[in-house]
Amino acid sequence: MKLSKTLWQTHKETPKDAEIVSHQLLLRAGLLHKTSAGLFTYLPFAMKSMSKIKNIIREEMEKIDATEISLSLITPAEIWQRSGRWQKMGPEMLRFQDRTERDLCFSPTNEEAVTDVFQKQVKSYKQLPLCLYQMNTKFRDEIRPRFGLMRAKEFLMKDAYSFHSDQQCLNEYYQKMYQAYQNIFQRIGLQFMIVKADAGAMGSAESQTHEFQVLAQSGEDSLLYTEDGSYASNTERAEGQRANVDFRKSENSLQKVATENLSTIEEVAEFLKVRPEQCLKSLVYQVVKKGKLTSYLILLLGDDELNEVKLKNLTGADEIYPASEQDLAKAQLVAGSIGPVNLACEMKVIFDQQIEMDAHYVVGANEKNFHFTDFRPSRDLAQKPWIVDVRCARSADLATNGQPLLEARGIEVGHIFQLGDQYTKSMAVDVLDQNGKRQYPLMGCYGIGVSRTMAAAIEQCHDANGIIWPKAIAPFDVYLAAIVKTDEFKKVAEDVYHLLVQSHYSVLFDDRQLGPGPMFKDADLLGLPIRVTVGERDYQQTQKLEIKLRHNSEVIHCRQEELIATLDQLWKTIP
Ligand code: ATP
Ligand code: MG
Repeated sequence: MKLSKTLWQTHKETPKDAEIVSHQLLLRAGLLHKTSAGLFTYLPFAMKSMSKIKNIIREEMEKIDATEISLSLITPAEIWQRSGRWQKMGPEMLRFQDRTERDLCFSPTNEEAVTDVFQKQVKSYKQLPLCLYQMNTKFRDEIRPRFGLMRAKEFLMKDAYSFHSDQQCLNEYYQKMYQAYQNIFQRIGLQFMIVKADAGAMGSAESQTHEFQVLAQSGEDSLLYTEDGSYASNTERAEGQRANVDFRKSENSLQKVATENLSTIEEVAEFLKVRPEQCLKSLVYQVVKKGKLTSYLILLLGDDELNEVKLKNLTGADEIYPASEQDLAKAQLVAGSIGPVNLACEMKVIFDQQIEMDAHYVVGANEKNFHFTDFRPSRDLAQKPWIVDVRCARSADLATNGQPLLEARGIEVGHIFQLGDQYTKSMAVDVLDQNGKRQYPLMGCYGIGVSRTMAAAIEQCHDANGIIWPKAIAPFDVYLAAIVKTDEFKKVAEDVYHLLVQSHYSVLFDDRQLGPGPMFKDADLLGLPIRVTVGERDYQQTQKLEIKLRHNSEVIHCRQEELIATLDQLWKTIP
């Protein structure tokens, strides 16, 4: 492709609202145009890179017999009503009406739509297993679209859905998909971690789910893993055992002490000369399930944090939120002095399982400016608590395998999930099994954020001068820079261009007649793996072209007739 024949404009200024590197570079390197908040136009070179990502995905999907279809972007309310999700999906699902006042939405995901297709097209278990996938636009009215393509409202997703007649078949296919995803991200050239993900309240105990996380400091997800790689989990669902807690044992009985104007755990602990983990943190949450509201009192070691995802899953809630001041007042509780003793009204009580029930703690006395010292849960609790894991695991905890947990940040680029029969059952979609009996097929769903993956690659692969594309997804392999003035050397540049066009390398020809300064700056910003320069002065003297590698700045000179062979050698060394 010749630059003179396409649309490409780089920008010097870093756009103000672009907080992370990939967003900045996508805009500055002329790959992306912002249409509006969370809405983008992919410019020509972004299209090139994404089509390479799509090709890799397509090849890996075909290898495991997944077949491509394309569901409509807009889906009618009826199919979502059949699964019950028309009501359940939050405002991220953008609903609207057409001219006949029919309810529709922009699909944020397509479990219902694909299950509907399956119902009409598949009749017998003999057609199973079946995996359908598509790569198209999804729309989510994200509350905070940000970081450019990382969290956009409109984005490109690959979503696959598989159907099986039994759990073993689903397990086997899940493993194949897991491997395919591993191949995809390896082929793209990214450093990633596969972590156990949260299955949500719907996921049953055996339903597996994993996320593919590209490692990057700017990642929105927190991950916990062990050095040897035997444990890796999204922090949302990670389990950790606290190491070395200094539990206080004593024979003292419960005592009320004045703690005037002290409300935080740190203040109270310092005043009473105990460590924060020798206090208990008391939190009140409202849990809404099928329209019914229940209040929960949750106790944690003083320096632990509640994991809301765990609480939501444990209670099977549709929604949870911290009690408001009014809620607390109604329950006769005083913020800053809440505790499990002398509760004035009925509440479910949860103790985090890290709490040693025979140790002594400081807790709120449910009376303004008072706390109890020497509260021993096994002795002083009026009701039997529910003892479960509701805290956020963190680094320095011990993993289930006994090794210390380490923390990393990640960008979720893929998510695979065993759905079971949740959609086929709720939508009453069945097939005849080998005995002629009706059976609900089991499903798996498997997503990749294609546009997010491109952004994640830039987030991971760049330097101060610009992008350093992994070679597998670079918009072009070679940037041909022509620093030529006379017709004689313009002809040389054209010859080199044709040589490259006819080779197995894709080439972007910078024929804009710029000086070396601005041209090389642009080339570095765009970050194609190889730059080949036809420099009039050098060529006149040496008859040689200059080759420069973007990732390590290595420079090599060669004659025109050696170019392709030299590139072949160099290409192997490029990540
Ligand atoms: P997240 O936790 O980041 O919101 P999600 O769990 O909602 O993602 P899925 O429903 O699993 O995402 O969607 C499949 C994939 O689509 C994700 O793994 C991610 O790569 C991508 N994706 C999701 N939301 C967005 C978005 N707003 N912008 C770009 N890509 C997205
Ligand atoms: Mg997800």
